[in-house]
Amino acid sequence: MEPTESTFREMVNLSPFPVYLCTGEDLVITVANNATLKAWSRDASVIGKPIAVALPELRDQPFLGYLLNVYRTGQPFHSDISRVDINANGVLQTYYYKFNYLPMRNSAGEIYGVAAFNTEVTELERAKQEVEESRMILYNLVRQAPVGICIIGANDLVVDVVNESYLELVGKKRWQVENRNIWDAIPEAKAFYSPVMDRVIATGEAFVAQEAELILIRDGIAENVFVDFVYEPVRHFDGTINAIMVIAFEVTDKVLARRAIEDIEERNRLAIEAAEIGTFDFDLVHTTTVTSDRFNQIFGFDGPVPHRLLIDAFHPEDKQIREHAHEEALRSGYLYYEARIIWPDDSMHWIRAQGKVYRDKNEKPVRMLGTILDITEFKRLQQQKDDFISVASHELKTPMTSVKASIQILDKLIRTGTNPDKISTFIDKANSSLNKMQHLIESLLNVSRISAGQLELSKSRFNVTEMINESCDYVRVAGDYQVIIKGDKDLEIVADKQKIEQILVNLVNNAVKYAPNSKEIIIEFTKRKTTIKISVQDFGEGIPYDKIPHLFERYYRVDSTGVQYSGLGLGLYISAEIVERHGGKIGVNSDAGRGSSFWFTLPLGDS
Ligand code: ADP
Repeated sequence: MEPTESTFREMVNLSPFPVYLCTGEDLVITVANNATLKAWSRDASVIGKPIAVALPELRDQPFLGYLLNVYRTGQPFHSDISRVDINANGVLQTYYYKFNYLPMRNSAGEIYGVAAFNTEVTELERAKQEVEESRMILYNLVRQAPVGICIIGANDLVVDVVNESYLELVGKKRWQVENRNIWDAIPEAKAFYSPVMDRVIATGEAFVAQEAELILIRDGIAENVFVDFVYEPVRHFDGTINAIMVIAFEVTDKVLARRAIEDIEERNRLAIEAAEIGTFDFDLVHTTTVTSDRFNQIFGFDGPVPHRLLIDAFHPEDKQIREHAHEEALRSGYLYYEARIIWPDDSMHWIRAQGKVYRDKNEKPVRMLGTILDITEFKRLQQQKDDFISVASHELKTPMTSVKASIQILDKLIRTGTNPDKISTFIDKANSSLNKMQHLIESLLNVSRISAGQLELSKSRFNVTEMINESCDYVRVAGDYQVIIKGDKDLEIVADKQKIEQILVNLVNNAVKYAPNSKEIIIEFTKRKTTIKISVQDFGEGIPYDKIPHLFERYYRVDSTGVQYSGLGLGLYISAEIVERHGGKIGVNSDAGRGSSFWFTLPLGDS
């Protein structure tokens, strides 16, 4: 079937695209399909009217000019996306179109009109504008945000958008970052964070870092900073990730401030622990006490104890000291006292308590915070020192009295000229007492030298047997004891001879002093690979097992009452120091009742 003219008419009318035809210089609307009428918001009455009359709102828009130009020149006109404002029921509405105006010619080739074929792109244009707008909104948001924001293309990792806060955070200029690969812009973060960003792009899962510590090169200077940041994937409408948004916030000051506080707390805690200080918080209103673990330990308890029990723990004679101190504290605001407490196992301990009283707004004391210290050892040493001073003065007084007495007698003998044969006896007596005094004073001097770290060694090579013989001669001369020396007569060592002799004198003296009934003293020395061991054995009372660990301590005496045997408790202490200075060891094997064998080792020295 041949298509008739009405078929074409029908097709034009059905077309969803606006199609119309204007004819003549007046551009009279001759054909306008339904889509056109709809687009114009007009009805069929416009047909037959010049377009400028039918659509007066177009008069100050460029389209009538374009139409006329096509009519006059025969040049077709194709527009890009153009905006057109149409009066729809009294309201000017904006649409977007692509226009195509074509000249229409008759069989003679003369132009009689212009056909318009238009496509509406309003929706598309709106969408595009919206995207642009939201981009602007986003951009402004990003720009003004107080946090650092940087948007990075997911494909090329090129920085698309970056704000001032971000530039400030990373310490870079805009040109160093914008439109550059992020890792070229901030190479110092690449090693650690490039894999992280790649993972976000690959998995689409955001990465959140809190107080991440990183080194940033800010204006050329490496700085250690702490940053809270997020790598947030930004998705395209089809779900693919087209960008990564980095949101970063510097928290260096916050972290450093917190660390400083943590440091102080830690230091306080360490100080308290190191000083072995127990702490308490005494509620004066309800008379309850909160105590630290160390506090409980000092009182001999495993855990917290009621206030009542703590008060009961005080030594009966010292309860008053505590009470007075607390009364005084309520007046002065400060607590201080030293007192004895009795542990649940009945052992006695010394404590020193210090505290501060806090008052409420009515000046009523409500709380006391304080510390306690176990000062048992301190008190023991103090006691020991006191004892020592009395022992030392006593020890010095005895020979001194004897010297004085001898001199008085000598004075008398010389003046009266009687018994001249006795003079030498008393001179010997005085001499022997002076020797004793000299020995004591020597010990005291040695102790102070050791305390001051001034015990100097002067080493030489000597024969061990000869050295032992020299140091025991006086015992042999006294005749009461048999000193037996066992060992290689040719053995020589390098050491401080005088000080080793001093040790032997101390040990032999002790053997004589503490084993008066055993007539035999065995001095034995054996050579080992690089050392020599020398022992002094007696067959006296021996030393109780539990006392042995203390023997070599300063001032220590097994029987500290000092009634039975005189002495300062320094001989073994000094001996131990000399041995230690040589790099050797000292010890004792002893069975109570069967005697003792004191021994020490010395390196052979460079032989
Ligand atoms: P001192 O003899 O002046 O008391 P020391 O340091 O020489 O001081 O000895 C410390 C303590 O060791 C002595 O008080 C004594 O109790 C004990 N002691 C030392 N040697 C012997 C020994 N051979 N037998 C028994 N006890 C000893």
